[in-house]
Amino acid sequence: ARAQAMEVDGSPDVTYDDIGGLEAQIREVREAVEEPLINAEQFREVGIEPPSGVLLHGPPGTGKTMLAKAVANETDATFIKMAGSELVRKFIGEGARLVRDLFELAADREPAVIFIDEIDAIAAKRTESKTSGDAEVQRTMMQLLSEMDGFDERGEIRIIAATNRFDMLDRAILRPGRFDRLIEVPNPDFDGRTRILEIHTEQMELADTVELSSIAGKTDGLSGAELASLATEAGMFAIRDQRTTVTEADFDDALEKIEDGTEGGSVPVA
Ligand code: ATP
Repeated sequence: ARAQAMEVDGSPDVTYDDIGGLEAQIREVREAVEEPLINAEQFREVGIEPPSGVLLHGPPGTGKTMLAKAVANETDATFIKMAGSELVRKFIGEGARLVRDLFELAADREPAVIFIDEIDAIAAKRTESKTSGDAEVQRTMMQLLSEMDGFDERGEIRIIAATNRFDMLDRAILRPGRFDRLIEVPNPDFDGRTRILEIHTEQMELADTVELSSIAGKTDGLSGAELASLATEAGMFAIRDQRTTVTEADFDDALEKIEDGTEGGSVPVA
């Protein structure tokens, strides 16, 4: 089960340059995660504990996973991902053991970045979730807290968690020594959207008339993930039309399609 429950990547290929519009968040992540990994010895000499865990929170598809992968890449650390929702849905009865395995694996492979996606699935307030009253989910969370409380002995392991539902979290996981560094990762603003569109059209054959800033102006409220699929969809419209060059009209068509797809009755995927 361990193999399926965790995604292990010895050298993730995401870099900070691949991430659009999150300059402040990149800076914070570097300070809280990268510095302690690179200068572990210095932290030891000065005698301070680096922030234990970093919690990234914000809407889906804004680059939280990318940030965690980019840190691992930059520090030559192993990237180990576990999805909270899978622990609850797929690996019933095994949660606590898998959390223990997760930290053991990280210790074997250090330096390592542990990324726990959708942490709300195992760390929701009792009142807010049907599953959190579940004794098994509680046990999984207790195991995570105890692993984190014994963290300083563990050497070069940093832990990053992510959630789309910050308000649902049990405050116990935010105490000092646990996820005590919070970083909000919002939907991109105009400049962020322009940059994200640049990144995702870099390999595309765009008509000279395409103004990415104009497309950014029309896409307020879209996430990075949605902008990435917008670019792909625009390319599909060009292909349908037997063209190799993508026009701004293709982006407009793609936008219409994406907005049709998201409007009315769509439920965010957990
Ligand atoms: P979730 O909360 O749904 O897990 P997330 O915040 O972890 O989402 P990512 O998995 O990092 O989002 O992003 C999904 C994809 O969307 C990326 O692989 C990338 O193609 C695109 N993307 C999202 N945000 C950005 C960004 N800021 N810059 C460039 N691409 C982005």
